[in-house]
Amino acid sequence: MRRVFIIFIALLISLNTAVANEKFEFRYNIHENLPKKWVTEFKNIMDVLQEVLPIQDNMNDYLKSPGMDIYAWKSTKNPFPEVKNNMKGSCICGDGSTRWMQIEIPSKELAKKYIHRYSVIAHEYFHVYQISLSENKLSDRDSPKWLTEGGAKVFEEMYVKQYYGKDSLKNDLQRKEMWSKKVLKEPSLYEKHKTSNKRGMDGNYTGSAFMVLVLVNELKKNNISEQQAFQLVFKDFWIERAKHRKWEKAFEQTFKMSAGEFYERLSKYKRVVKKILPSKNLKIQDIFS
Ligand SMILES: [Zn+2]
Repeated sequence: MRRVFIIFIALLISLNTAVANEKFEFRYNIHENLPKKWVTEFKNIMDVLQEVLPIQDNMNDYLKSPGMDIYAWKSTKNPFPEVKNNMKGSCICGDGSTRWMQIEIPSKELAKKYIHRYSVIAHEYFHVYQISLSENKLSDRDSPKWLTEGGAKVFEEMYVKQYYGKDSLKNDLQRKEMWSKKVLKEPSLYEKHKTSNKRGMDGNYTGSAFMVLVLVNELKKNNISEQQAFQLVFKDFWIERAKHRKWEKAFEQTFKMSAGEFYERLSKYKRVVKKILPSKNLKIQDIFS
């Protein structure tokens, strides 16, 4: 009996080690033109994100190769010619054979110390998280842009608020030129990039972020906490999304209201920002615990 017990303990220990070792692999390819300080912060941010929002192993299935490369550079022509010619912008990009993350930091963001130089890391990482939970249902065809991009925008802003004390969400939302009233009256336009990318409609995904915050506000009316409401939007919806053919079904299952019902409630809102902003002391650890 004792031997069985010892073997059982040994098995438990080895299982635990196996789980601990199975962290999803990101490979860092950082251009030498980025300042040391940025590189240090990049690594810190990635460590925190991988701890709080670990990426599931299934992500490898959507990459067609194990692990994911991240390319980061300060704006310059053709930063990684040996990998791909003329990489540009920040995205989760793909070429049909694999996918990678790329992060382009404009010189101006570094010179003027714009917080976007760090928040963009959280933004792109959040898309990887969404892809993995939803089982690769992130394109416009599969999920509404406002939930994908609005979620990533609100998340990145929460991140830099918590770790750098910078709050640009309120400021962005208050700037009229950033997003249009169409958010309130024609929200279905925000389900696709191509119907909501005109100038002033969804600059820096601010209109989409407004929709996400209104959704959280409406969910709170169902007697659930702010943390739980954010968890539904940032995490549970994407898990549910994997289970259904249409996003509308996942929406209804997760939020206990149809998308149409939500749009109806949204139409009653005005461009008032204050009452829908996340609480100042909200931590991402509380949402993803
Ligand atoms: Zn994005």
